[in-house]
Amino acid sequence: MNAQTGQENHDLDKEAQEESKMCMKHKTTDDQRWIRFMKIGEKTGCHQRYDRSFFFHGKQFPVCARCTGLLLAYLISIIWYLVISCKNHSFAYLPKRGRQSHIIAFFGCLTMLIDWTIQAVHVKESTNKRRVITGFLGGLGLMHFYLTIYNRIGSYIGKKSRRGKD
Ligand SMILES: [Zn+2]
Repeated sequence: MNAQTGQENHDLDKEAQEESKMCMKHKTTDDQRWIRFMKIGEKTGCHQRYDRSFFFHGKQFPVCARCTGLLLAYLISIIWYLVISCKNHSFAYLPKRGRQSHIIAFFGCLTMLIDWTIQAVHVKESTNKRRVITGFLGGLGLMHFYLTIYNRIGSYIGKKSRRGKD
């Protein structure tokens, strides 16, 4: 009887050990993954301040709230650009771009700059909600200018190579 209980206890111990090993394994891989993300976030040049970042399941985002908005806007802009390009069968960035689009993009960048400046000069501390929204608007504006520059360079190279063929 005693031997049997001993065996049972031993089995239970083994089970508990295995379980704790599994938990530890999951914990480390989760943490390692998070550390890897944080390192990638660091490379973007973000300050990664925890008080200015969002959290998901107790883990800090690899970039701050403003950079989250900014990167999200970059991602959406690039996807949108690729969709439009595939539709038009051309990777030249939207042929009909007027001055208005530049003005709208400029104001997008300006809202981010204003929110950042107000905080930088200690007039008013921003909130994560405001950071992500202004970051998103700024990101859309910035990506518009990046794509415009890309388009200008592309059309310049296109013209040059066409001229070379003539
Ligand atoms: Zn940041």
